[in-house]
Amino acid sequence: MTSTTPYITRLAPSPTGMMHIGTARTGLFAWLAARATGGRFILRLDDTDADRNIAAAEQPILDGLRWLGLDWDDYVRQSDRMHIYASMARLMLMQGLATEADNGAILLKLQGDMPRAWHDEVAGEIAITDRDLELMDGLPLLRGQDKGGQATYQFASVLDDYQMRVNYIIRGTDHIPNTAKQVAIWHSLDKVIPNGLAPQALPKFAHVGLIMKDKKKLSKRDGAASLLDYRDRGFDPDAIFNFLLRLGWGPRVDNKENSVLTRDRALEMFLGEGRMRSSNANFDEVKLAWFDKVHKNLKRKAAPEAGAAPKA
Ligand code: GLU
Repeated sequence: MTSTTPYITRLAPSPTGMMHIGTARTGLFAWLAARATGGRFILRLDDTDADRNIAAAEQPILDGLRWLGLDWDDYVRQSDRMHIYASMARLMLMQGLATEADNGAILLKLQGDMPRAWHDEVAGEIAITDRDLELMDGLPLLRGQDKGGQATYQFASVLDDYQMRVNYIIRGTDHIPNTAKQVAIWHSLDKVIPNGLAPQALPKFAHVGLIMKDKKKLSKRDGAASLLDYRDRGFDPDAIFNFLLRLGWGPRVDNKENSVLTRDRALEMFLGEGRMRSSNANFDEVKLAWFDKVHKNLKRKAAPEAGAAPKA
């Protein structure tokens, strides 16, 4: 164990398609951070946007995580928490931390003492500019009645992180613009009284480089992007685990010995003996095939030979 803070992390996939390799990579990192510190790993279905959700997209997420061996401590659907978001937005309105638009939308009212930066564990200090602040004033927390009145992703996600005491958020660099907004919402939640919430330090953030293939972001339409396809093609889950680990994380001592890592070794090394990177990672299928061969060989060696007498 390399850290004394138990990390409470979460994976917040949107059920809008297949289980994406990038989601699995984010889940792996969040799982490792939680498990390496005796913390908690929360799986939270980010399904506030009823127009985009596909009911059939939920099962592949669960199956994919199970196949990779990423067990979760809590499973939450945001669609079950809509009333919580709505009542908190109302409370913020009553306390002057939000305003109401003509269509009933509830909008964030920016506070003068907003943090002007956050420290990213991977990318370093990230400034929140005057322009960011300008854009954030009036950020929707709840959509208008004409749009169903549901909580927005930004608000639901921050309120959940706040209430679930998430203290380490790991996700792709494409979420950096969201983080500025989420810091603003977090800051406002710290002022909401009385609701049983104690002010909470901002979580740690780690924004990890994206997964690229042929110099383009691995998109949902890319054939290589579906986790369960690898299962169906007979890949070893430990090979995928090892491969995903190396997409955005590297050991401090990057030698031959550290290239093939078991789960246990990955857990030991993840926080203290290596680091996540903000530079994009290349999805190299040749390397994946190599990892698959190596992990299958390791298992073959570890398994007692069929028919051989056990050694005394
Ligand atoms: N639902 C977002 C996604 O799948 C993640 C949100 C988050 O990490 O806050 O990219």
